[in-house]
Amino acid sequence: MVSGSGVRCGSVRKNAGGNPTGKCRAAMRAAILALRRCRDWGFSLITMTDNLNQDIANRRVAILAALAAAHDPAPELIAVSKSQPDEAIEAILAAGQRVFGENRVQEAQQHWDHRRLSHPGLILHLIGPLQSNKAADAVRLFDVIQTLDREKLAGALADAMEKEGRRPKLFIQVNTGEEPQKAGVFPSKVGYLLRYAREEAGLAVEGLMCIPPVDEPAGPHFALLKKIAHDYGLLSLSMGMSGDYELAARYGATHVRVGTALFGDRAKA
Ligand SMILES: *Cc1c(COP(=O)(O)O)cnc(C)c1O
Repeated sequence: MVSGSGVRCGSVRKNAGGNPTGKCRAAMRAAILALRRCRDWGFSLITMTDNLNQDIANRRVAILAALAAAHDPAPELIAVSKSQPDEAIEAILAAGQRVFGENRVQEAQQHWDHRRLSHPGLILHLIGPLQSNKAADAVRLFDVIQTLDREKLAGALADAMEKEGRRPKLFIQVNTGEEPQKAGVFPSKVGYLLRYAREEAGLAVEGLMCIPPVDEPAGPHFALLKKIAHDYGLLSLSMGMSGDYELAARYGATHVRVGTALFGDRAKA
């Protein structure tokens, strides 16, 4: 054993130190290996991007087809881009999507302020709760604010619209399940808020939005939202998400808000 390892040691020393050709060959082999790795890695990055683009484009086409089959006219597909990385947003823009939903003002600014310039046809919906002190930011960025749910916010939005010279469309969010932790007005209070928004704040309201309780069938909530909209002559209905956009379309949704079914899973916040 001892003499054996001595021999191996000697031969390594001889190749590495005493034989320049061997050293050169070893370096070359390492370089080729590194180049090959780089190439493979580059290819796999390109393939990954292609796959992402293709997956998102395919899912979008399938969802649009399902919506068209479920109802005529088909509801507008709002792509919910909250928590999505830039690659995913670029991929769906490349696929032709122009209508997006975000649930936080600040993240929406990060996603869309600069893209407004490169994509003039964008339509942005705010689908998350809005604090009165962010009303001006929201009015500046969004084309539709779906989450009007109290008088104070109606007043703040009216002031912001006056100041900004911009009038996003407004939907009232209705808490159809009357869940204490959830935003939105209770169904019995829609009439009051609508009257306040129109008569006191001078706002036009175009529709209603709801997020049914997670643990209940969505159908009755969609039906209730539709009935309330009908009672007050409101034409737009934002309802239906990844799990139930077809059902919502059959209930007469004019807008569905779809995130994960389009993009795949969101990064955990
Ligand atoms: C995140 C979100 C959606 C999209 O949810 P998915 O299940 O990913 O389709 C729809 N509506 C609102 C209000 C949301 O916050």
